[in-house]
Amino acid sequence: MSQERQEATPGQEATRAELMSRPTPLEPAPRLARAIGLEPGDLWVKRDDLIGLGGGGNKVRKLEWTAGAARAEGATTLVTSGAAQSNHARLTAAAGARLGMDVVLVLAGAPSEEMTGNIVLDGLFGARVVWAGEVSEAELAAAMEDVAGELREQGARPAVIPFGGSSVLGARGYAEAGTELLEQAPDLATAVVAVGSGGTMAGLVHALGAERVLGVHCGAIADPGHTVGHLVEGLAGRPADTSLRLRLDQVGPGYSALTEPVMDAITTAARTEGIVLDPVYTGRALAGLIAAVHDGQVRPGERTVFLHTGGLPGLFGHAEALRRARSAVADTAVRWPHG
Ligand SMILES: *Cc1c(COP(=O)(O)O)cnc(C)c1O
Repeated sequence: MSQERQEATPGQEATRAELMSRPTPLEPAPRLARAIGLEPGDLWVKRDDLIGLGGGGNKVRKLEWTAGAARAEGATTLVTSGAAQSNHARLTAAAGARLGMDVVLVLAGAPSEEMTGNIVLDGLFGARVVWAGEVSEAELAAAMEDVAGELREQGARPAVIPFGGSSVLGARGYAEAGTELLEQAPDLATAVVAVGSGGTMAGLVHALGAERVLGVHCGAIADPGHTVGHLVEGLAGRPADTSLRLRLDQVGPGYSALTEPVMDAITTAARTEGIVLDPVYTGRALAGLIAAVHDGQVRPGERTVFLHTGGLPGLFGHAEALRRARSAVADTAVRWPHG
């Protein structure tokens, strides 16, 4: 550890790895605003999908803290877990490449012939994938600990990064992002965000206050209110009676299922603003915003920011979303010259 690091406030800039350029852009989305029932000047998109590392996305801000701390502690190997199409796993692989650390990903599922989407990138970034089979959340966490133990026996110094990067430390990345956003949009009324493992919403709530953050649950965890609340308290360092604004109505049949409102949201964003959303997270977040405008939870005339958290590779790893997008191509295709 350098002298400078030791003198920094414990846990502050001391261990953050620089993995991105900031601030990310905040762009107006007037055509999307009108399409969903807002006024053209109301809606802005915070483009965390444009974070440069590894194809971009919100997990980079959390990894700056978690991987930074691992590196400062002398770890050689980052170990994490997730679903087969985990964006967090893909970005951990990219962060490891950037920081010169080995990466082992413990993923739910089995290797299939269809190595698509994020899995392709995991391999490209040089991560080793361990397939844990069809396991519960608890079993996946246990498998990850076993893998870390094995690595330790082999002489590596593994650091385990929790599911989705959503420890209190990781959530600090979004507390910072919230401050960054407030500088860009001081009059912000509502920031809309997808909730997966919860750290992104928790960080934003810490910076913006619970009343200005609308979280849309994506079905990745059992109890989003509890999980986000716990992280918010961890960030504050004290109990907080935060009443969170959470929508639970966009999960549908489950985390990996593509619903009609989500497919509509993906198509609307693509055709009004040329912005690509994914079927699991950002598509649900926009579907949640559309529902919120519909039932008056978000009103015209107020500044709304949609946090684009990334996830594009996941679109290419989602069979049903691909089938639907391909049929849209087929519907509009013509052959040249006309027969
Ligand atoms: C993980 C993820 C989220 C959710 O972030 P959490 O901090 O896990 O709640 C949202 N969007 C995308 C694209 C993600 O990969």
